[in-house]
Amino acid sequence: MFKRIAVTLHNLIAKLLNEDGLAVRVRHAIESRRHGEAKGGGLKLAALSTVLRVEWMAREIHPWEQNSWQDQKDRLFTEQCLEDTLAVIERLFKESGIAGEAIDHFCMAATISGAAAAVAKRLKIKPEAVIDNLAARCGDTGAAHPLIMLAVALEKAAPGEKILLIGFGAGCDALLLETTDAIRDYKSGSSASAALARSVTEKSYTKLLSFSDELDLDWGMRSETDAKTALTQLYRAQDQVIGFVGGQCGECSAIQFPRLAACVNCGSIEPLTPYPLADQLAKVATFTADWLMFYPAPPLYVGLVQFDNGARVLMEMVDVDPAQFDVGSPLRMVFRIKEKDSRRHYNRYFWKAVPAV
Ligand SMILES: [Zn+2]
Repeated sequence: MFKRIAVTLHNLIAKLLNEDGLAVRVRHAIESRRHGEAKGGGLKLAALSTVLRVEWMAREIHPWEQNSWQDQKDRLFTEQCLEDTLAVIERLFKESGIAGEAIDHFCMAATISGAAAAVAKRLKIKPEAVIDNLAARCGDTGAAHPLIMLAVALEKAAPGEKILLIGFGAGCDALLLETTDAIRDYKSGSSASAALARSVTEKSYTKLLSFSDELDLDWGMRSETDAKTALTQLYRAQDQVIGFVGGQCGECSAIQFPRLAACVNCGSIEPLTPYPLADQLAKVATFTADWLMFYPAPPLYVGLVQFDNGARVLMEMVDVDPAQFDVGSPLRMVFRIKEKDSRRHYNRYFWKAVPAV
């Protein structure tokens, strides 16, 4: 029965990645919301293989069992990870008729040290093809990790190269991707390497534990407000909330956010033309550091962001170094968690301004 589920899942993913399915929708979403970053046809899916592991349920020690020793769980997890990964890659090689030597970039998202190198050696994948697992740079980002590694691989990939992407969790997925000639034009304005280079090192363990919900701090009454997200509004205004798309007035050309029914400048009720703000540069117009408002990393910096194109938006400002932050400081936009709804386990996202250094 589980083999049948795995086959169904395999077919479903293959169908979603088909030109008529998810790929087109994702490309449309990216092209309509962000300008100049996404080019279609840069990658093609050559093969896909998945394995769903159910043996854990039957074992004496489950890797997530609370009452067993951590080293036992670690060993089990490592064994299982290697076993599943090898099985799924071997099947993918068999299905696609290639061998390990043909792989140019091997992205295996496992933060277990040496795991990717061990798998590569077993499958005769060239050592230089193994992409760094980024554990020392950004830790384990969970479900996003294989895609971050893929983004790093794409930065150095040339046309006609083969990328093997491995995702491991409750089971394992292997995707064999091939770059096309379109990869030559791939220029990302916000590349993975640039994002990693801008990272901020956090040295406070208390903060780390608090951020990862390992430590439940008492934040006082101001933190007890219900942070429920209005999902209907999020759906209706998704291009504004997720894409940070404002509007430009056809009468007076004023750029504004949010996109309201009437222009904030001249009052025209002609519908505003969508205008993406995510990639636009801005400066601090006013700001305040608020120590009273609940914020998981106080103080909360809020203020008016003055875009170079004239738009003015009241926004949160984060990653602020108080010694180098003032009115007129340059800003860029980042997509971050706005609020955590702890009652419903739902994270709300929105754009924030960070110093553009
Ligand atoms: Zn106007």
